[in-house]
Amino acid sequence: PAHVAGLVRDFGGRRVLDGLDLTVAPGEFVALLGRSGSGKSTLLRVLAGLDDTAAEGVSGTVEVPGSLAVAFQEPRLLPWRSVRDNVRLGLHRDDAIEAAGRALDEVGLTGRADAWPLTLSGGEAQRASLARALVREPELLLLDEPFGALDALTRIAMHDLVLDLWTRHRPGILLVTHDVDEALALADRVVVLDGGRIVADHAPGPRPRHDTSALRATVLAELG
Ligand code: ATP
Ligand code: MG
Repeated sequence: PAHVAGLVRDFGGRRVLDGLDLTVAPGEFVALLGRSGSGKSTLLRVLAGLDDTAAEGVSGTVEVPGSLAVAFQEPRLLPWRSVRDNVRLGLHRDDAIEAAGRALDEVGLTGRADAWPLTLSGGEAQRASLARALVREPELLLLDEPFGALDALTRIAMHDLVLDLWTRHRPGILLVTHDVDEALALADRVVVLDGGRIVADHAPGPRPRHDTSALRATVLAELG
């Protein structure tokens, strides 16, 4: 599992994470909601090892599985490498090229492996970024608002894609989102971050979920 306990993160004397406790069990899909500036990306950076946990202002317990992958809101593909090379970058296995091709197939980008990233649409670039995360076959997938910049229809297609990939590969997922409906549609657990701590933890129940309006109202109230 991924597990943080008593996690504190200060930036220049300002406490952003204030003794935060959160566990993502193996194969569990958790959505993390919270207002802008509440510390969601900070938490993801700590989990991803992108923050220096030995630095001043960081304390608490952080445990992550051996393999994890991150996808950000901006796909961050290297423009001078093909889509396939972006996906297989840093992958140490003999069949890296084939694995990258399969990951691109899985996200519906068959035929675009040789394209340059700048020729992809926003949604295609986000799918390539997802393929780059998936090809690592991570036990934990950290997604920081990966659908933020998409139109409503593409976003729904991405929701279906992520649920499908999650069902077949079963990584643990921690999805940061601003979209309460997205969280309630996708995740096993919906947690709310406020004041540097998890202030609410909901289980929306079995899918498909036809009426989440009551829980939606509760979560919106918790978000303040
Ligand atoms: P959003 O929804 O807008 O993405 P967030 O919940 O992801 O917000 P964070 O990016 O985690 O918020 O930032 C939380 C707070 O910590 C913000 O006030 C931010 O300015 C501050 N912060 C984050 N990183 C740093 C840093 N490296 N140095 C100083 N302050 C930082
Ligand atoms: Mg953020």
